[in-house]
Amino acid sequence: MNSRRDFLQKLAASAMALPLLPLQNLAGSAEYANFYNTPYDGPVLRVAIMGLGSYGTRVAKAMQDCKRARLTGVISGTPSKIKAWQARYNIPEKNCYNYENFDQVKDNPDIDAIYVITPNGLHHDQVIRVAKAGKHAICEKPMAVNAKEGQEMVDACNQAGVKLLVGYRMHFEPKTLEVIRMRKAGEFGKILFFQGQCGFTIGDPTQWRLNRELAGGGALMDIGIYAINGARYMTGEEPVWITAQETKTNPEKFKEGVDETIQFQMGFPSGAVASCLSTYNMSHLDRFFLNGEKGFAEMQPSTGYGPIKGRTHKGELTQPHITHQTLQMDEMAGIILDGKQPVVDVSGEEGVRDLKIIDAIYEACRTGDKQQLS
Ligand code: NAD
Repeated sequence: MNSRRDFLQKLAASAMALPLLPLQNLAGSAEYANFYNTPYDGPVLRVAIMGLGSYGTRVAKAMQDCKRARLTGVISGTPSKIKAWQARYNIPEKNCYNYENFDQVKDNPDIDAIYVITPNGLHHDQVIRVAKAGKHAICEKPMAVNAKEGQEMVDACNQAGVKLLVGYRMHFEPKTLEVIRMRKAGEFGKILFFQGQCGFTIGDPTQWRLNRELAGGGALMDIGIYAINGARYMTGEEPVWITAQETKTNPEKFKEGVDETIQFQMGFPSGAVASCLSTYNMSHLDRFFLNGEKGFAEMQPSTGYGPIKGRTHKGELTQPHITHQTLQMDEMAGIILDGKQPVVDVSGEEGVRDLKIIDAIYEACRTGDKQQLS
């Protein structure tokens, strides 16, 4: 992980390179450089991370560079991890909780939000407990294991008067936002086709990602969701029908209810279509392609931790790389504290939209039938 100084130097370098960039790229890049290079004395979102695993660790490191968000607490079942995080991030004992007692966070004025970064199957109950404790919830993707559970989480947060955001880091990524800007400006013309290919070769067969209870499924829940979500933000439309086909080469590793590879197709109201691949059995698979009557965008890698690379019919995408989780947490602080509106929704409702599609894809695999979505 880069130090804050390295981070700011890199950003300053991107800002210095700005005069060479095409005009349409200036606004976003300059805005980011300006934000990270000027002192900030506004409100700060104080966040506790629940689940100190591999992604929680990445988020915590990235938050060291945040200006509007700060790590102030932890929730973990492992006392030794809590001790290590306390030392690394200067977290006081009174802001440390375990999975049994974290409801007491309701009486802690130093924590505004809890970021749930645990296995998928636990998100539902944990987010509802966060809501009942009166704290804002940020929840990792997939927000739940089906749309019904996702909706219950949205309802619980609404009832408690707290915000629920889903960790869709790509919704803040500068090159992704540039493609969305171009699409909205009509630069691709009428959108005709999207292709999303998302996958990696998964290792250890005993990990929770291959456990139906904890993962809620297989590759589709974990990595295929990027193709679903990407199809929606790249085309700007919601699918009206879905077809899907599942293939499994290793039923011992990928047990009943844990998908290895699924290909799925979606149709949109405009007539645009999408063709996607989700897999735990192929490496180097992280690619988006958007095709319209007047042009195209191609991104590879398209959803990894970056730098994202891409080009359109107008040339390379040159927006700066900013650590995704740093940008995400600063932007989410803006949403929670100032009611800022993101370009692409990151609310719980957005998470439910993806889960409705996931439900339909599993149903299409099970029945072989085309699924209509309302
Ligand atoms: P991980 O296995 O590295 O960490 C999970 C953490 O949850 C561990 O600290 C573990 O101790 C804890 N935990 C609590 N109860 C548990 C239980 N009953 N069983 C197993 N672990 C339990 O997993 P991860 O890669 O950090 O993934 C966590 C979440 O973050 C998942 O929802 C995943 O989809 C999401 N994620 C998102 C991104 C992203 O780019 N947005 C990337 C990776 C993971």
